[in-house]
Amino acid sequence: MPQSHNSISKTDTFSCIQCGLTVMTYDPDGDRRNHCPSCLHSRHLFDQVEGGPSDCGMRMAPISIAVLRSGDWMIIHRCAQCLELTSNPVSRDDNQLLLMRMAVRPLAQPPFPLEAFGDL
Ligand SMILES: [Zn+2]
Ligand SMILES: [Zn+2]
Repeated sequence: MPQSHNSISKTDTFSCIQCGLTVMTYDPDGDRRNHCPSCLHSRHLFDQVEGGPSDCGMRMAPISIAVLRSGDWMIIHRCAQCLELTSNPVSRDDNQLLLMRMAVRPLAQPPFPLEAFGDL
């Protein structure tokens, strides 16, 4: 994906809007990242969404995991202000405990009684 529209260098950092951690803009694999590897929070900025209204700068909370056909995991973020949803690739050093907790949450909290499966 061409990144010619930005001027971010490999050594740039940003501060996590949630926990204050100083985060390298590029992950260990050299891919650009937009969320904190510790708490997985992100920030709603224009270049995180293609063609979206966005750019509100508010905190984006990680709410779910999506798995692509390729097997790659994506984090689904929701903006605290405009409620817009975005998906961002998981990095190698992202908090694996938080990722797993989000991945199993739908199984741990099904919106219907699990006893229903007993009748199948
Ligand atoms: Zn953080
Ligand atoms: Zn927003």
